[in-house]
Amino acid sequence: MPQYTPMMQQYLSIKSAYKDAFLFFRLGDFYEMFFDDATRAAQILEIALTSRDGGGKERVPMCGVPHHAAKGYIKRFIDQGYKVAICEQVEDPKQAKGVVKREVTHVISPGMVMDETILSEKEHNFLAALAHDDEQYSLALCDLTTGTIHTTCVQDFERALEELKVARVKEVIVSAQMMDLMREQSWTVSVAQTIDNAAELPFAFENKACLPALLLLTQYLQITQQRSLDHLQQPRFYEPDEYLTIDSNGRRTLELVETMRDKTKKGSLLWLLDETKTAMGGRRLKEWLDKPLRSKQGIQDRLDAVSTLIEGFTSRHDIREKMTAVYDIERLAGRISYGNANARDLVQVKKTVSTLPGIQRAVSELGLPLASLLAEQVTALEELEKLLANSLLEEPPLTITEGDMIADGYSDVLDRYRDAGRNGKEWIAALEKRERDETQIRTLKVGFNRVFGYYIEVSRSNLKNLPEGRYERKQTLANAERFITDELKEKERLILEAQEKSVDLEHQLFLELRQRAQQFIPALQELSRLISELDVLASFAEVSERSGYVRPQFSPTGELSIVDGRHPVVEKMTMHQHYVANSVTLDNTTSMLLITGPNMSGKSTYMRQVALIAIMAQIGCFVPAKEATLPLFDQVFTRIGAADDLAAGQSTFMVEMMETNDAIQKATASSLLLLDEIGRGTSTYDGMALAQSILEYIHNHIGAKTLFSTHYHELTQLELTLDALQNVHVAAVEDQDTIVFLHKVEPGPSDRSYGIHVAKLAGLPDGITKQATALLQQLEQTKGQAAPTAEVGATQTVAEQLSLFGEANTASKAAKKTPAPSKAEATFASELASLDLMDMTPLEAMNWLYRMKKKVQ
Ligand code: ADP
Repeated sequence: MPQYTPMMQQYLSIKSAYKDAFLFFRLGDFYEMFFDDATRAAQILEIALTSRDGGGKERVPMCGVPHHAAKGYIKRFIDQGYKVAICEQVEDPKQAKGVVKREVTHVISPGMVMDETILSEKEHNFLAALAHDDEQYSLALCDLTTGTIHTTCVQDFERALEELKVARVKEVIVSAQMMDLMREQSWTVSVAQTIDNAAELPFAFENKACLPALLLLTQYLQITQQRSLDHLQQPRFYEPDEYLTIDSNGRRTLELVETMRDKTKKGSLLWLLDETKTAMGGRRLKEWLDKPLRSKQGIQDRLDAVSTLIEGFTSRHDIREKMTAVYDIERLAGRISYGNANARDLVQVKKTVSTLPGIQRAVSELGLPLASLLAEQVTALEELEKLLANSLLEEPPLTITEGDMIADGYSDVLDRYRDAGRNGKEWIAALEKRERDETQIRTLKVGFNRVFGYYIEVSRSNLKNLPEGRYERKQTLANAERFITDELKEKERLILEAQEKSVDLEHQLFLELRQRAQQFIPALQELSRLISELDVLASFAEVSERSGYVRPQFSPTGELSIVDGRHPVVEKMTMHQHYVANSVTLDNTTSMLLITGPNMSGKSTYMRQVALIAIMAQIGCFVPAKEATLPLFDQVFTRIGAADDLAAGQSTFMVEMMETNDAIQKATASSLLLLDEIGRGTSTYDGMALAQSILEYIHNHIGAKTLFSTHYHELTQLELTLDALQNVHVAAVEDQDTIVFLHKVEPGPSDRSYGIHVAKLAGLPDGITKQATALLQQLEQTKGQAAPTAEVGATQTVAEQLSLFGEANTASKAAKKTPAPSKAEATFASELASLDLMDMTPLEAMNWLYRMKKKVQ
């Protein structure tokens, strides 16, 4: 580096230790970035890229952000998964000999943000450790702001990633061996270089299987945080199978927490259900939506509470009203134990604790089971409330080093300092009065500034009235003179000394107070758990009552019966229009519905509403229906739409097949499958054949409750061969030249697809739709004719493919007689007959079809 200036050399040497972070290099009032950091940051932050002479041959790219506005820029980096290392000047530039000394004071990474202004209040911020031993993957998910840790073990890597995705983990700590693998998957990764497997955990924890991840997490935190880890709570172990699994595609397409199109909360199920009053409640609701329950008892307990809260309208109203005064005590408790809580934080704790008795009374009136737990915490926290009420002023400043925090009467010594200060000030006020009287100068006043301290000010016009030598001249202004006296200076010394001492003492008293508050942390954490749950349950009650939802029942036999169900979000969005309710019945004799109907008629809305109702029931909320009896599902899989997968570079069809494969590999008879227009991504006959074999496979091998929408009318024939499959269609009627969607689901298949009508509705030119109508008629006529046999070229291909479908359907009770096969058809048929479809994956089926098609061509 010799050619670089000393400062650039300093930069490069610091940067070499923080390769995976953007280095914010403090230069006066700016944080500057150089070289690659600068070029990338300029793009990410949309700021100007400049350059500066760094001593080398070429100018060094540079960009910077003002020090006072840094937070906003840091947040943008963090939100996009980057890390930022803050490098400060650690000596006074005026004192520096040579280059000012600089050091990285802290690194901010997505999983390790403690600053509330960067975090979103209604969302957990998880940092995870992922470890792998011979047998399994262990995971530890930690929210540093609250000290919460969840831990689990899973058998395969995919499942581990799924757990990370569900919790929206922001950063993953892994060992060096796993680093590349995780980076390939686009995770923000931090690497723990060495792990001492014999080390002790900072908390008691029995489950040995999770130990590798917990050690990885705690040791990494010890090294990077350089402080005690007392604020970490006892980890909570969970089995992934305790919860309803919703594949990541399902969570996205069912729009559970954000919409697919613009990734906003508005329009999602979370948005609909979120009437929580506290940040803790908001986070809990999201957690419940991420992990609906599978335990019937757990769900019933929540539903019981929701029922009670709906019936007890007045108490619920009272509880919700009081909740508005509840601060985020979960994060406040985190800050207390982490040691960065200020006096304002403690005042918020006090205010929250003082609203508790009111909430607890209302909860007791309702007879909710959590009343007694809440009562325990109210008692446990009485002492804290008293302590904080006696010690703190109501509106302390944000800093803890400038005084104005501690109340009078808390400390005798502090009171004495304050008295000295106050007496001094009174003495000064008296001095002003006395001097005015004695000099007869009515405008004489005593003032204070930081440079000269206390002074007596006399306006220029009154100077003539001032006896010579009465005061000592100190400063001359344009229209006044300022003076001091020995006595004034002596009082000033006493006042300032008292002030300085009291500020120091207040700081010390505050630190002691914060220390004493630490013993109440377990109670505060338990309280936040109770309050957050109460908040979510009251929110469910509020939404359920307002929107006319009913309590779901659970059937021991696996029956699903929804009477007049609605899609909760579409219903809310189409507030002014009429939402058409639809019923569904699925049981062990009919477990699959094949849904046909024109585009835009409401097929996918119908499918989604079933899944949303099931999910709402399993998080313990009432559901949008007149009546609902549901099985307890173990998993929900969806294969709906693929617009944004295209952007990710994979072909729609490949994605469709991969997702379908994932669903049929994992689904069980207790799962819910939503498959929307499977096969749409490939040519008609490929698609149709695949759709059929997938349906048959689910029917014969899985038995999952399945809703399958399709525009292949030919598939409706399957009702004749698959006992558990039933046709339904979404009704539409033709009105002259256009089509009216009734959104009503009715038994039986739809008779046609109305695609041309929809195209008309979409405004396609008349010429096109007329031509399409004519072509359709022609096609419909040819369909009725026997397939031609001896022609070459495209016609033959179509004919053979048509007969393929006929062959595959030979078991169909409605199978038509086909003409005698050609030689090609015969070979084709015999190969087809030898296939064991039930043993093939959809991809293998597709490959086979592809080879056959090539052969035929
Ligand atoms: P498809 O899947 O058949 O193409 P969608 O389910 O996407 O159709 O529905 C198209 C639109 O019709 C929806 O955006 C919604 O506004 C409306 N819709 C669907 N179902 C209903 C219903 N039951 N009642 C009222 N409007 C509905």
